[in-house]
Amino acid sequence: MTPENHEAVSLYQQKDQGLSWDSRFRFHCHGGLPCFNRCCRTPTILLSPYDILRLKRFLGLTAREFLERYTRREIDEWSHLPLIFLDPFKTEEPGCPFLGVEGCTVYAHRPAACRLFPITMGSQMTEEGMVDHYFCRQLDYCRGFAGDREWTLESWIEDQVFEEYDEGRREWLEILLKRGLMGPGGVDAELQDLFALACYDLDQFRQDLSEWEFLEVAVPGVLETEDLVMDDLALLHFSYRYLQDLLLGDEKEG
Ligand code: SF4
Ligand code: SF4
Repeated sequence: MTPENHEAVSLYQQKDQGLSWDSRFRFHCHGGLPCFNRCCRTPTILLSPYDILRLKRFLGLTAREFLERYTRREIDEWSHLPLIFLDPFKTEEPGCPFLGVEGCTVYAHRPAACRLFPITMGSQMTEEGMVDHYFCRQLDYCRGFAGDREWTLESWIEDQVFEEYDEGRREWLEILLKRGLMGPGGVDAELQDLFALACYDLDQFRQDLSEWEFLEVAVPGVLETEDLVMDDLALLHFSYRYLQDLLLGDEKEG
């Protein structure tokens, strides 16, 4: 350890201490490292609705096709709502289904969790609203930390275009956190399926919305808004508002 990188090294060792915006660390991941691709062989990648939207569009799939081919669904212990993970066991050799010989084959559209790594983020709902905590995750085989590039948390987030992905998932995260605070009651299998439909299976949700009967019950007048028919992102933000009303009721402003 040299005196000038002391602060960066201590950062990784204090794993339980959250990072501040100007915390510094060294990291450089590239194809010349012996660990290249290793972290993508056993990934636990939670996908947000925005991650799914970006990936399914890039791959030219419907959301349903994407979910069936590449993911698994689990019920979140906190909110009792469904979460979607990349499934490393849907390929012949276990690993991220998007891992190729030369690395990530969906790199420009990789999920938020992959962008942020080696930083991880946890969020908490407080009286002041949602508060994020950032941590540095140092896998023992990861050689990126011996790299020659120095970052602050802020410059890393900017470099990885993380904010766009974070923006696309914040309302979803808020629903999960707030619903968890309300306790386990009231989330049955039907509600879980509806949440999964509106968040993760946007193409099917759009189709269901076009059925007048559903519209009458759930969202009168929605098809007058052409954006929701044409634009996935507008539909996703509509889904968030719809789910906030459905799942949070009076708690949604809190
Ligand atoms: S999406 Fe790309 S970066 Fe993320 S785990 Fe898969 S191969 Fe690795
Ligand atoms: S340097 Fe770290 S992040 Fe990059 S490939 Fe190696 S283990 Fe993965």
